[in-house]
Amino acid sequence: MMRHSFLLLLLFAFGLAQAERPAQPETASGIGVVKEARGRLFMAVTAHPLATDAAVEILRAGGTAADAAIAAQLVLNLVEPQSSGLGGGGFLLYHDARTNRLRAYDGRETAPASAQRGRFLDAEGKPLPFQEAMVGGLAVGVPGLPALLDLVYRNHGRMLWPKLFAPALRLAVEGFPLSPRLYKLLAEDRYLRDDAAARRLYYEADGKPKAVGTKIVNREFGFVLLALAQHGTKLFYEGPIARDIVAAVRAPHAKNPGDLSEADLAAYKPIEREPLCGERLGHRVCGMPPPSSGGLAVLQTLTFSAELAGRMPLAAESVHHFAESGRLTFADRARYLADPGFVDMPVRALLDPAYLTARKALIRAEASMGRAAAGELPAQQSFGEEASAELPATTHLSIVDAEGNAVSLTSSIEAAFGSRIMVHGFLLNNQLTDFSFRPEEEGRPVANRVEAGKRPLSSMAPTVIYGRDGRVVALVGSPGGSRIINYVAQAVLGLLAWNLSPGEAVALPHYGSRNGPTELERGTAAVQLRPALERRGHTVTVQDMTSGLSVIQRRGDDWVGAADPRREGTARAE
Ligand code: GLU
Repeated sequence: MMRHSFLLLLLFAFGLAQAERPAQPETASGIGVVKEARGRLFMAVTAHPLATDAAVEILRAGGTAADAAIAAQLVLNLVEPQSSGLGGGGFLLYHDARTNRLRAYDGRETAPASAQRGRFLDAEGKPLPFQEAMVGGLAVGVPGLPALLDLVYRNHGRMLWPKLFAPALRLAVEGFPLSPRLYKLLAEDRYLRDDAAARRLYYEADGKPKAVGTKIVNREFGFVLLALAQHGTKLFYEGPIARDIVAAVRAPHAKNPGDLSEADLAAYKPIEREPLCGERLGHRVCGMPPPSSGGLAVLQTLTFSAELAGRMPLAAESVHHFAESGRLTFADRARYLADPGFVDMPVRALLDPAYLTARKALIRAEASMGRAAAGELPAQQSFGEEASAELPATTHLSIVDAEGNAVSLTSSIEAAFGSRIMVHGFLLNNQLTDFSFRPEEEGRPVANRVEAGKRPLSSMAPTVIYGRDGRVVALVGSPGGSRIINYVAQAVLGLLAWNLSPGEAVALPHYGSRNGPTELERGTAAVQLRPALERRGHTVTVQDMTSGLSVIQRRGDDWVGAADPRREGTARAE
């Protein structure tokens, strides 16, 4: 019964979604029907059909999930250039079937050695407007993705390294059709045209994007692929490519010249970390530890909203409770989380069962708590609250191979088209805007303030879920700025608490709070709950919520997968 009415609600949501879709920095490409893929051997879900095809090509040829993820990521750089690429960074979880171990890899960008706390303050000491800091060299961190892929390949790859470059190389040289979604984002972007290389690649002489379906040939990127295929990613961090990145970032004519140096690039190291796992909803849910807040925040939110298991996903009390959970989570996130290499992270304390029980008791059934305060932790340095704005871009891919290895990778150049600086056919990130622009608040240092060599706090939440039998049962992840946390927590609830299939889970109308207003997804059935939430004291906003979930779940002996209908991803399996 519950399932039946839920499906009706979804259908209704789709209908509404078609009707209104206004512009915003990272808009949806339209909610459609969610097709699921099903297979026994392997499965790949990525944000673009050509990237999914590349993963399948590698999996068919006997590659591991790591091999397939690398090939797909290189294709994404080309065909979804707004979201991720060699000029950015990411977080990757790898379930290694042979050792039955989960490994967590941090390929987050780092601040240059010369970075100072006041980096994003104006002459009067006020935080720069986000858009001003985002474009140009100032926010470019040392890219982490090439080194991340290299490390994951060395630990988990099987095919010959150059073969993993073949699908992307082919598309770079022969061209790929410009997709409707890329067209839309190119048309809406105000800054990318100012970069001469990007303008030549994506725009006509009159400043309009090239038409949908135009073959985009990116030879410069092809040369980079060829070089890295032959010589490895060291060539990215030292030598001509590194020199050109540095020159582009520091160019005096550019907006916001930056200070990245060749030494910064040469010093970059990806870091293997202990994954963060906890028992939730009868499963072991694992995510990324700091410097991403994703893993911890998803675990906190799932603890606070565990009782939603017995309720409808679109009932007013469910949305109320989930939003209140988000308030508590985001209050802690803003206070305590940052790069653990710089700040003592109270990860244990923030996941301590007694602490979580006390926090959860703050949720009242009938009234919103309004703005939540961070929990008080004894013996913890007192931090001010961070304030970093995020305009979402980013991508997530989920892959399982025939041996049971699994990848959950969230990868990003931060905002759509990153810093809008193109070097050799790829875009550089603006990831340093994920630092708090304010280095202190009311005299207290902000944990996530800018410091030399530090990694900015992320919300990326690649997730791997294990069943009672110890086997992988699901992979979840999404782009979406700090909303990632709510998207992922909601999708996990969808699978584990509401028994939805991946296709149903990715299509759930979004809602939640990041400790500000309660956000409801525009054009969906969630909007109807506005009056009921306002009666409980919520301040409600209705917004586009362009998640990009890539979900895989084991159902019986099959893998079932689905890509988010809000973007143009696909799922394929055999
Ligand atoms: N820069 C964000 C982060 O690392 C991701 C942005 C996005 O998802 O669009 O959390």
